[in-house]
Amino acid sequence: MVMIDEELMQRLRDRMVRQQLEARGIKDQRVLEAMRKIPRHLFVPQHLVERAYDDYPLPIGEGQTISQPYMVAWMTEILKPEPGQKVLEIGTGSGYQAAILCELGADVYTIEKNPLLAREAERRLAQLGYFPRIRIGDGTLGWPEEAPFQRIIVTAGAPSIPQPLLDQLDEGGRLVIPVGPSGMQMLTLVQKREGKLVTEEEGTCVFVPLVGRYGWKEEERGRFF
Ligand code: SAH
Repeated sequence: MVMIDEELMQRLRDRMVRQQLEARGIKDQRVLEAMRKIPRHLFVPQHLVERAYDDYPLPIGEGQTISQPYMVAWMTEILKPEPGQKVLEIGTGSGYQAAILCELGADVYTIEKNPLLAREAERRLAQLGYFPRIRIGDGTLGWPEEAPFQRIIVTAGAPSIPQPLLDQLDEGGRLVIPVGPSGMQMLTLVQKREGKLVTEEEGTCVFVPLVGRYGWKEEERGRFF
């Protein structure tokens, strides 16, 4: 067991929120508050605890990453999850984004294709008192039994927007997803208004690939980077 200085971690978290989030224009007070509260250092491998509040993504094993704090805040601000809303996340990874959504009072459903990561995320979320529904599988298919969702957030880069996710988005709903090829994607917001899809491009981002039936094919993976 590594001894963790919780007071130091809180100071690092406060500084992260000031210097990485507020300074770059994140304004949603509920998002800032959630990020001040969730112990991000418990979502990274033990040897990276000291870097948990730094300004970049970190490896979490299995070739995957926990997103940069700013990316989590930015996507959550665009998603605008309201308490009680059904929110679907694709790409549970470490579970950090799911914890933020739970803290904001959403009814969270999250899908992770890697069983090892899914189980680890479930354990750490439970330890913190968060109990999202977690499914192991291909998130590009969505979660049809639980649809529709008022909010959908995809935390891996897609070649295009998976049709099942558009179908499972509720009227008035918001879907946030990185779309585009290797190395750089466009963070895209889709809103469903009176049955019509309205798409907005928010800015560029870099994610690991979304691999699945309506994502990148397993054999294309090598070409992604
Ligand atoms: N939201 C995470 C970061 C996700 S990294 C966090 O807060 O830590 C992207 C994750 O998407 C990886 O864990 C990867 O295994 C997963 N992934 C990739 N394709 C997927 C798919 N089709 N369905 C579900 N998960 C997928």
